[in-house]
Amino acid sequence: NLVSGPEHTMSFVTMDCLFCRIVSGEIPATLVRETDTTLAFRDIMPKAVSHILVIPKEHYADVATLAQADAKLASDVLETVAIVAEHEGLVADGFRVIFNTGEYAGQEVSHVHAHVLGGEPLGPMLA
Ligand code: ADP
Repeated sequence: NLVSGPEHTMSFVTMDCLFCRIVSGEIPATLVRETDTTLAFRDIMPKAVSHILVIPKEHYADVATLAQADAKLASDVLETVAIVAEHEGLVADGFRVIFNTGEYAGQEVSHVHAHVLGGEPLGPMLA
């Protein structure tokens, strides 16, 4: 199941959510890693040499909602972040993980996603 909740909620979310469409395969993405519960793919407009998005397959609006609803799934997302960072060779020099959450943070896609950024010096977070 892509999302939890009643059937009408599921169709609503699946139809409207860009990342649910990537999970379902309706919209193509450059996959980096897939697990039973998570997906990692390259950001379409990379802001660093390495810029990967990690999401739970199941729909949650943001990281706060996910963490409170399903701690195991939140942990799965972080595990995929760690493995992807390792496979991309980001660990030795360091990398950044960002969960933009809500309007003030500029969250554009309302399906929780970790930005994994690295491969070059990233500069200060708030420029
Ligand atoms: P922001 O756009 O401010 O970074 P988000 O934190 O919601 O807001 O990030 C959404 C990210 O999804 C952006 O980095 C954007 O480039 C990326 N994105 C949008 N559409 C796609 C797509 N089809 N495939 C991969 N990444 C995408």
